[in-house]
Amino acid sequence: MSRVIAIPALQDNYIWIVEQNNQAVVVDPGESKPVLDYLRNNKIQPVAILITHHHLDHTGGIGELLSQFNIPVYGPAKEVIPHQTHRLFEKNLVHIASMNLTYQVIECPGHTLGHIAFYGHRQLFCGDTLFSGGCGRIFEGTHAQMYESLTKLSALPDDTQIFAAHEYTLSNLAFAHEIEPNNQCIQSAITKAKLNLSKHIPTLPSTIGREKTINPFLRCQTLKSQMGTEDEPSTFSRLREKKDSFR
Ligand SMILES: [Zn+2]
Repeated sequence: MSRVIAIPALQDNYIWIVEQNNQAVVVDPGESKPVLDYLRNNKIQPVAILITHHHLDHTGGIGELLSQFNIPVYGPAKEVIPHQTHRLFEKNLVHIASMNLTYQVIECPGHTLGHIAFYGHRQLFCGDTLFSGGCGRIFEGTHAQMYESLTKLSALPDDTQIFAAHEYTLSNLAFAHEIEPNNQCIQSAITKAKLNLSKHIPTLPSTIGREKTINPFLRCQTLKSQMGTEDEPSTFSRLREKKDSFR
């Protein structure tokens, strides 16, 4: 059985390491040093790098890792990723044979145009698309694309664990609370996130089922009338605009 470790990196990134029998898959290494330290200290051999999108805080460590390990780099076909060896499209499968892992590729444009997520073994590595309590900023795509991407991810089984790439949970939940002040699930999520962070424990992974109760961007159907919008894509758009200016 594999386990997933969070390596805190840069300002508020998590580099996720899936490890099993002293082998590891490294997801979105924005920097190399904390990853190399972890691998060395635990005598773990990396076997592959997975990349969700081209931003430097997800790719900055690839070069240095490759200078020490000759391993494949899987990433989105529609973006330029340094040292990429495998260009992935929707529904492609990534097989990590030595660890008996398989991930399905889900294209989820919005934050960036080529952004992908990796789904397998009831685990989702979704980069900067879906966060706990929120979603990524829309830098390259349209609101409609991001809404569709989140709809795809939220259709995964409720017990799917979400390994997002940033520790944004508490600030996301502050916005969620402002939108739904009477939502008990959001209130208890805030309490739990504060407790975790006070002990330096990541608030992730969350799950799809849990996010459906606390994440306004997955609750467009419920929030539609409150937001005074006609359909769910416009509810999403209104929420995203409000969040962009929320302090
Ligand atoms: Zn990003």
